[in-house]
Amino acid sequence: METNESRLLGMAEEVERCDKCRLCTTRTRTVFGEGNPDAEVLFIGEGPGKQEDITGRPFVGRAGELLTRIIEFGMGVPRSEVYIANLVKCRPTVDMNLMRDRPPDPDELQACVPYLMAQIDIIRPRVIVALGSPSSKFLLATTSGITRIRGRWGEYRGIPVMPTYHPSYLLRNGGDSSPLKREVWHDIKIVMERLGWPLPRIKRGEKG
Ligand code: SF4
Repeated sequence: METNESRLLGMAEEVERCDKCRLCTTRTRTVFGEGNPDAEVLFIGEGPGKQEDITGRPFVGRAGELLTRIIEFGMGVPRSEVYIANLVKCRPTVDMNLMRDRPPDPDELQACVPYLMAQIDIIRPRVIVALGSPSSKFLLATTSGITRIRGRWGEYRGIPVMPTYHPSYLLRNGGDSSPLKREVWHDIKIVMERLGWPLPRIKRGEKG
């Protein structure tokens, strides 16, 4: 019998061979996504970065460490309990002006998001957390920036979506001492309330 796990594995193999957009020519590895195939919460970021491109795993660089702290210390569950994916499965090249990874171009998004849409259909999480502007704009079909829409529920095909800041954005804006952390924590608490998850007792200094 087909399970969510076997369906996701089959799609991951298909993605490994994908050449639907130009990013296949510069990638080291595809980054399909990872986590619990039956997760209640699905985190969706923008695209793989350097470490993700090397390892083939989502959110393993500095931003990934911060996301892991948000999940494990903030939400009180192991990272393996949730599912983590991105809008595109191959790393967009570096923007030399910004000296950091650029967001995916519209044609790259158009080519790749059917994979994400299929992942969502398989997992059918109770809640999606959209990390940053590109994933929030795609899921909520809006042109509004993340600062305007974060912290308020939207919906993607019947699934509640909570937009919040991308961990990379937090790191670029003060890191652990960023005032934006408070806003992300606010958004995560709303997600936990919706899920009926208890708020963990967090020791000072541990929270993501
Ligand atoms: S980014 Fe997506 S559509 Fe483009 S080559 Fe990679 S897997 Fe295929």
